[in-house]
Amino acid sequence: MVVLKGAAELETMREAGRIVALTLRAVSERATAGVTLLELDELARGMLAEHGAKSSFLDYLPSFAPVPYPAVLCLSVNDQIVHGIPGRRPLRDGDLLSIDFGAHIGGYHGDSAITIGIGTIDDDARRLADTCAEALAAGIAAARPGGRLGDISAAVEAVCRAAGYGMPTGYGGHGIGTAMHEDPHVPNVGRAGRGLTLRPGLALAIEPMVIESGSDRHRLLSDGWTVSTVDGSRAAHTEHSVAITEDGPVILTSV
Ligand code: MG
Ligand code: MG
Repeated sequence: MVVLKGAAELETMREAGRIVALTLRAVSERATAGVTLLELDELARGMLAEHGAKSSFLDYLPSFAPVPYPAVLCLSVNDQIVHGIPGRRPLRDGDLLSIDFGAHIGGYHGDSAITIGIGTIDDDARRLADTCAEALAAGIAAARPGGRLGDISAAVEAVCRAAGYGMPTGYGGHGIGTAMHEDPHVPNVGRAGRGLTLRPGLALAIEPMVIESGSDRHRLLSDGWTVSTVDGSRAAHTEHSVAITEDGPVILTSV
């Protein structure tokens, strides 16, 4: 069921989104060579406490998962696409790190992700991360009242495919509100002019994912959570929670 949000609800979502954005910024600044992924998770836990917010990810147990999610960040390095669990691994110069974070406050969630380079990254990694950010911007620009869900999907897909990248089959964004994952599913591939009509009050997490080699294949690691490429090539992931308003899309997960 798709739930439209009123102005007061979107205001609370904006507050959740602001905390998410501030945390992503702090984690990005801390993410340097030698820092472990667990240290980044600790930093994010501290930010949640500081703002009186709760993690959307910790102890999350969807039907596909064998165990509750054990952290507040998803940290996916290099060939990991999404849902990487923070561990003792130290970051290395040249790593490509995707940081995904969700928080809720006052009963409403925010969910956002960025992909950054650690130290000096090669030009191909930079292009991969930049393209994923461009795909997100294109998807957000297409999230206009009176448009269709397929407009967002087609916009995201066009940018990723034009760059020659793969897109993990089946993965995409989602509605967001009192739950992190609400209807509708927001596919990263599709046709413009098709699907749900976009109305003011609809809140969506739009989240492109790209695979460097051009393959769409992915696999689940034995931890039951981490999704990785099959061929070892690198991946990037970006995400914003966005509200559709009479005046167009508004990014909720910004500072
Ligand atoms: Mg996310
Ligand atoms: Mg999401």
